Amino acid sequence: MVKWDEKRHADLMAASRHLGESDASKLAWVVRFANEDASLWHSAERATRGDCLLVLAGPGRVAPNQISPLPKPLDEDSVATIHAELKHLLRDVVQGPANTTVSFKSGGHDVAITRATDEGVKPAIWGWSYTGNVQAVVLRVVADLILRAGDRLVACKFKGCRNPIVAHRKQEYCDATCSQLARTAKKAQRRKGGHHGKATRKR
Ligand SMILES: [Zn+2]
Repeated sequence: MVKWDEKRHADLMAASRHLGESDASKLAWVVRFANEDASLWHSAERATRGDCLLVLAGPGRVAPNQISPLPKPLDEDSVATIHAELKHLLRDVVQGPANTTVSFKSGGHDVAITRATDEGVKPAIWGWSYTGNVQAVVLRVVADLILRAGDRLVACKFKGCRNPIVAHRKQEYCDATCSQLARTAKKAQRRKGGHHGKATRKR
């Protein structure tokens, strides 16, 4: 194996550890990523996030003898575009009343099934993946994650924020800042006799 491949492999393994193994930890990573301010990343941080997106878009389940080539790093524009799309998608899906439906184009991906075993061999063993445009694949994968592991994916209850969070236990707000801003807004509202405060969270 050439040196470049080893480094690339190590980078992708690191990205895969960031994401974790379970659907829940992957979704948690996606939500943290989407809530980040992209303007604060330096180039290495952007590259790390790009690798995480590649791992996320990677084979859904690799057949035992399936060899997939190591993906090249995502270019900066793709990371930025996917970040912006996920930010919008996640905000849109957690906000609004029941039966809010969000649709998005994911036409740039195909579903691939790989048979690991020879023709006629039982038991047949299968692998699968989405292939095609990384952007489209990531959106499709995130939609799958929301369906499988999104039971705690909610909007922050502070009306000036409403960002998506994966809530731990009784968590209702992103963090102490939103929780405090919400309490302050409630107090102000009581003092004004029920008018909604216009406080928003600066990000
Ligand atoms: Zn919040």
